[in-house]
Amino acid sequence: MHTAYAPGRVELLGNHTDYNQGYVLSAAIDRGVTLVGEATGSPSTTLHSVALEQSYETSSDRLVPNEEHEWANYPLGVLDVFQKEGLPVCGFRAEIESTLPLGAGLSSSAALEVSTAKLLEKIFGFTLDPLRLAKLCRRAENEFVGVNCGLLDQVSSVFGKAGHAIFLDCRRETVETTPFPAGVALLITHCGVAHRLSGGEYNERREQCFDAASRMGVEALRDVSSAQLEAARESLPRLSYLRAAHIVGENERVLQGVELLRAGDVKAFGALMFASHESSRVNFENSTPELDALVEIARTLPGVLGSRLTGGGFGGATVTLLESDKATAVAEALAGRYHEKTGFTAHTYLCAIADGAR
Ligand code: ADP
Ligand code: MG
Repeated sequence: MHTAYAPGRVELLGNHTDYNQGYVLSAAIDRGVTLVGEATGSPSTTLHSVALEQSYETSSDRLVPNEEHEWANYPLGVLDVFQKEGLPVCGFRAEIESTLPLGAGLSSSAALEVSTAKLLEKIFGFTLDPLRLAKLCRRAENEFVGVNCGLLDQVSSVFGKAGHAIFLDCRRETVETTPFPAGVALLITHCGVAHRLSGGEYNERREQCFDAASRMGVEALRDVSSAQLEAARESLPRLSYLRAAHIVGENERVLQGVELLRAGDVKAFGALMFASHESSRVNFENSTPELDALVEIARTLPGVLGSRLTGGGFGGATVTLLESDKATAVAEALAGRYHEKTGFTAHTYLCAIADGAR
């Protein structure tokens, strides 16, 4: 039997920057997906998810995405992509266990893909370059699951390092890690409200970003500085300007954030997180009253350094950077006051910044 593990992740700064060819800062967390499995010695492939209490059996020589057991498409997509790459894989059986909530924005999907990839490496005895492994997992999600995700989730799960943030340049597809000063933890708080808006909102934001870039004559908003954006302000439709202001600001905050981490200044880093949320609220309009409430309450609690919405927005979760010794008290106070203020029940996940897949 072989065991493989891959963590979930949280986006720390760099909101919606991926499709604008920009920068993202993320961290792997100490929750993830564990796969235990072995070769079957034939094309026969069986997966069992403990969380879903479901099994799925198929043959590795005729893999097709299936609608009934959509969850199985994540591991089978990895198997399919590996086969297409000519890697020496065949049928296997695996048990899937997870400490990540499904669909809560902590990237259980990438953790499932990356843990599958690591398990296949171990079972069939080969080792991939880590960036190639991350890209093949993204391809599995793009092509086999049919979700048009960027590279951040897979990169974070692969390159995570305890106590370090991960810096991804989405244009160059380069990855670096930067140490986080000691004594801090992350609190991820799901607002407890289902996503209100569909993918339509997301696509509209993308289009507005692309529109702003093309009006400024650049390939992507990555190529625009805030000074250039201000100079072009009058020539842009109001919404294109606002969306661009968010992306340009986020890219600058990521670069500044990396410098602040290097200098050990978590306080100033936290201030960037608050600024990021404010820009989401005002410029990108991808926050909600519930996410705003979580950030506003967090701001008042002792030990909190910064807080912002994380991921796509329009619902989902916030990430709060805080002093480790106050973490439990902050989590309790935040959930309590949020319930008083909104009537919703938040789900809090106190996380350490952890190592990547193994
Ligand atoms: P996120 O990646 O933020 O958790 P996604 O919607 O991208 O949200 O991925 C969630 C999907 O991944 C689930 O609906 C399920 O299909 C699959 N998945 C994640 N974890 C598991 C698991 N432990 N067992 C089976 N499927 C899982
Ligand atoms: Mg996902």
